[in-house]
Amino acid sequence: MRFAIFRTIGVLLLSLSVLSLLWLIRPTPAERIAPTWVVPPSSSGMPERLPTPPLILTPTPAIATEMLLVQPHLDVAIPADLYHPADHLALAKQLDQALVYVSARFGSPPASRMRTQIVHDQSCMLRGLARTDQRVLEVLTCNNLPHRRVINIAAHEFVHQLAYDRYGVVHMQSDLIMLEGIATWGAGNYWLGDSPSFRDFVRDNYRTNLLPLATHYDGRSIHDMNQLYYQWASFVEFLLETHGRERLDALAVTGNREPGSGDYVGVYGIPLGELEQAWQAWQAH
Ligand SMILES: [Zn+2]
Repeated sequence: MRFAIFRTIGVLLLSLSVLSLLWLIRPTPAERIAPTWVVPPSSSGMPERLPTPPLILTPTPAIATEMLLVQPHLDVAIPADLYHPADHLALAKQLDQALVYVSARFGSPPASRMRTQIVHDQSCMLRGLARTDQRVLEVLTCNNLPHRRVINIAAHEFVHQLAYDRYGVVHMQSDLIMLEGIATWGAGNYWLGDSPSFRDFVRDNYRTNLLPLATHYDGRSIHDMNQLYYQWASFVEFLLETHGRERLDALAVTGNREPGSGDYVGVYGIPLGELEQAWQAWQAH
């Protein structure tokens, strides 16, 4: 029972964090967080593609005006009144490609199929949330928002699911730096635009005013929250490059949702502060 409650709280908190984040991805002035240009995933290192099954277009029983597009790795549900029906298949295919890309980048595939639920939101506030225990990822959008921004958001949400599948439910209560840093890092090109790495992105955009890594975004500006997500992704990139995947995986299941709460000493032998100094030096080059 306690477990179920904690899990529910975790999902709610994650959803809230995602909802908050996606304020960033409104048309202006935070365009930078939703890259206008997305690099096609490289074919190298990608998981083997499954043969594409025949497209199935059927109204779902619960909502007659919704179409379900069954893709090789993903089920995509799109309201019939959202976007032009002729664009639905392209959107579903691009979402499927994004899942393949982030799975290769993250290093492990989803445990089983998941569903991406596109929701027509009249308020036109682009946002997403990951119901990882249900394997449902929602993206709320409207006709005035381009498809690519739906895909950019979904890429981040997909990684939350992959992390849940790799690390288990305990990850949802882990250090916020890891929880959101891994999801942002895993989204890769979908968040980098034309930057080659998160190190470059942070250096080019935030170099003169880095925030302490153990900063919570609660109560801070949208700009700061935006910056924290990118800094955390850069920190994940740094930990991977300098200390390897095994330790990152060990860290990803520690903490209590507070940024900086992970067991850095147990995993790396030094506290976060020392790792952060090394990261800043790495970041500056
Ligand atoms: Zn997130």
